[in-house]
Amino acid sequence: MQRGECHRNKLVLQRFMEFEAVIGLEIHVQLSTKSKAFSADSTEYGGMPNTQVSPISLGHPGTLPRHNQKAVEQAIKMGLALHCDIRRVNHYSRKNYFYADLPKGYQITQFDTPICNNGFVKIKTSAGTKNIGLIRIHMEEDTGKSMHDQDLHDSLLDFNRAGTPLIEVVTLPEITNGDEAYAFVSEVRRLVRYLDICDGNMEEGSLRCDANVSIRPVGTTEFGTKVEVKNMNSISNVKRAIDFEIQRQTELILSGGLVVGETRGFNGLQGTTFSMRKKEMINDYRYFPEPDLPPMHVTDEFLESVRAGMPELPETLYERFTKSYQLSEYDAGVLTDDKATALYFEELAKISGNYKASANWVSVNIRGYLNENGIELSQFPLSHSKIAELIVQVEKGVLSHSAAAQKLFPAMVENPDESAAGLIEKLGLAQNTDGDFIENLVNEVLAKYPEKVAEYKSGKSGLLGLFVGEVMKASKGKAEPKKTNEILLQKLG
Ligand code: ADP
Ligand code: MG
Repeated sequence: MQRGECHRNKLVLQRFMEFEAVIGLEIHVQLSTKSKAFSADSTEYGGMPNTQVSPISLGHPGTLPRHNQKAVEQAIKMGLALHCDIRRVNHYSRKNYFYADLPKGYQITQFDTPICNNGFVKIKTSAGTKNIGLIRIHMEEDTGKSMHDQDLHDSLLDFNRAGTPLIEVVTLPEITNGDEAYAFVSEVRRLVRYLDICDGNMEEGSLRCDANVSIRPVGTTEFGTKVEVKNMNSISNVKRAIDFEIQRQTELILSGGLVVGETRGFNGLQGTTFSMRKKEMINDYRYFPEPDLPPMHVTDEFLESVRAGMPELPETLYERFTKSYQLSEYDAGVLTDDKATALYFEELAKISGNYKASANWVSVNIRGYLNENGIELSQFPLSHSKIAELIVQVEKGVLSHSAAAQKLFPAMVENPDESAAGLIEKLGLAQNTDGDFIENLVNEVLAKYPEKVAEYKSGKSGLLGLFVGEVMKASKGKAEPKKTNEILLQKLG
């Protein structure tokens, strides 16, 4: 690189550093209720098109919507998990716009009285932990789906999804880069899964994230013009879209241009965003109070019953795993990543009584097996009590940890009904603790390395590992390590 060019690159980099990004996220969470938000229609995914549509979902004249209490309960659960204030008197509004997949011509949503306000989500990135504040969480209903690839000439419509309950989580503009956005969406997804209110599947659209991105000169407080990016179907694409958008806006301003307020889509193949519609084309929704639904009251009793039904959340589990069980932060993080893993671990630890070993078996061996085979924990063939048997056998010194991991564990997975003890016997995995057997091998090894023995005796105590290793090798892995150590130390004086 020429000197001049290098200098110019430095200048460009410096000028990039003069800007910072301001990001707010809007996350739609499709609730996992059996029936729709305002009717008894099923919300089942994947049904034959237009088989889950009553006149209420289609908004036919004379039909009346009714609240789905389960959807309200799930919205409150999310609010409690995110430390929000829960509104007691909730109104619904009509958001009017015309679109083919919106059968009623309006969407029922909460406009000026969202069920939750304030609150925050704690995120962890390599830069540390940070709380991202929330503006609101409101309830609304989903639209139907347009399908443009099913027919040569026409777009087809499936209204099965229309009326499915959603909550929308809206953050303050407190996110500053793609990594934080990644951590935020990951945490929201983890929580909705723990709360069992949504499967969190971004590919199928149960969880959807729009990112509002603007930049401003470092040190200023006024916000720049924001661009809203849509259509990211994975968490890593949320990060990629934001990173791209920050770079695009910075380059645009550095080259003398202006950011225009618009909605942009994300192209996952190219990792770029593209303009979809400009701000001035954005609808005037003519919100007005929904006349067919009475205000929904959250009573003290209802709120308390929802609170009482909350599961333990990952933060609480993490506390217990690190403080009471003395696990490392890394182990506790891995084990609380999803609820099934955390519950499996706790059950196992209770039965085996060995927290550290239980953590290792779950986070290393079992998870490794699940990854290799592309299955979920719920499909794993071995119960907690089987893994506990294995841990106890290793603890008692019946077999070495490596024999347990490499031979016994795979054999147990293949034969989930057999006992650990039975398989150890059958496969000849037991260690030899017999003193004479080990002593003979120790004698052989020490006779084979007289110079090393001399070195050891003159102070090189690190050589002990070499002798242990040789005895192990000679025993084909069967010599019990503790006993081997004992005998070696005794012989070496
Ligand atoms: P709109 O009415 O255009 O939807 P809102 O004020 O409701 O805008 O905010 C929507 C989201 O955009 C929120 O998450 C908010 O934090 C974020 N946001 C607002 N202004 C900006 C900005 N200048 N830059 C980035 N994000 C912003
Ligand atoms: Mg918006």
